[in-house]
Amino acid sequence: DELVSQIAAGEVVERPASVVRELVDNALDAGARQITVRLTAGGVRAIVVEDDGGGIPVEELPLALKRHATSKIRSLEELEGVQTMGFRGEALAAIASVSDMSIVSRTADAAHGQRIDARSGELSPAARSVGTSIEVRELFFSTPARRKFLKSDATELAHAVEAVKRHALVRPDVGFAVWHDGKLIQQWRQASHDTRMSDVLGADFVANSRLVDTMAGPMRVLGRIGLPEAARARSDHQFAYVNGRFVKDKLVAHALRTAYEDVLHGQRQPAYVMFIDIDPTRVDVNVHPTKIEVRFRESGEVYGAVRRAVEQTLAVPGG
Ligand code: ADP
Ligand code: MG
Repeated sequence: DELVSQIAAGEVVERPASVVRELVDNALDAGARQITVRLTAGGVRAIVVEDDGGGIPVEELPLALKRHATSKIRSLEELEGVQTMGFRGEALAAIASVSDMSIVSRTADAAHGQRIDARSGELSPAARSVGTSIEVRELFFSTPARRKFLKSDATELAHAVEAVKRHALVRPDVGFAVWHDGKLIQQWRQASHDTRMSDVLGADFVANSRLVDTMAGPMRVLGRIGLPEAARARSDHQFAYVNGRFVKDKLVAHALRTAYEDVLHGQRQPAYVMFIDIDPTRVDVNVHPTKIEVRFRESGEVYGAVRRAVEQTLAVPGG
């Protein structure tokens, strides 16, 4: 079973950034309004994610670490319309199998927090305000072959910060802080969408971009696409989301790029932050272990709707 977990971990956990993504997903699912990420040595030595969400009841703590134990869906029908970031109950078990993990959590009705050590399963009382802290130490220490694939601390740190950025752009209502080796390196306060985009991507992007906001049948396309004059209108500023989930989707990327090229004849890849909201039964998010890819039921319609939304926005002079 340890082996099975480690194999599953290989699909979900590639590097510290994957751990950050999963832990922040969980914090958001728990209703957090403030999330703090603390990294040591690029996250290779330690990753701590603290949230002020609802916490985990003490009797559920051991369950949270079990494979396929999720508190988020109970049936296949619920999977069809899943609203939470997580639903497979795999992440914590997978991460715990390739690291030294502990959880400290407290619910609103508990007199104090509880710590659980993933390896021993031991529970002990701990001080904490309502919410959850998950600490992941020495990623891949027991699988040296995998640890060798990690890059320099600076590179791992950059990927981990990118993971937080992806969340920060879609959840401006949540405050984020990232610490590295004891220093605060990023802080994004609760804000409006535009302020958050400006805080994360720079004021230049917001000033030199067009607001897209279009309804197309059961879909809404909302976001900003950078104009060629945005100095940082580059391909590393491409953030697409489907129902609040960051995705790398060729169809969406192609639709955005084609619209941009058709109207602006831009030479470079456009920068964008685009939120596509669609009836959840029309998109399958359960096609990739990290959920970074999705499958649309009517992909042609989605393609057309995204492309038209952006084309119409860009075609308005000075809009
Ligand atoms: P999933 O997110 O798919 O349910 P995970 O392995 O990521 O699976 O987490 C397992 C369970 O642990 C979750 O279903 C949830 O009940 C609990 N959990 C994990 N992280 C948190 C958190 N930060 N706050 C509250 N509950 C959490
Ligand atoms: Mg999860």
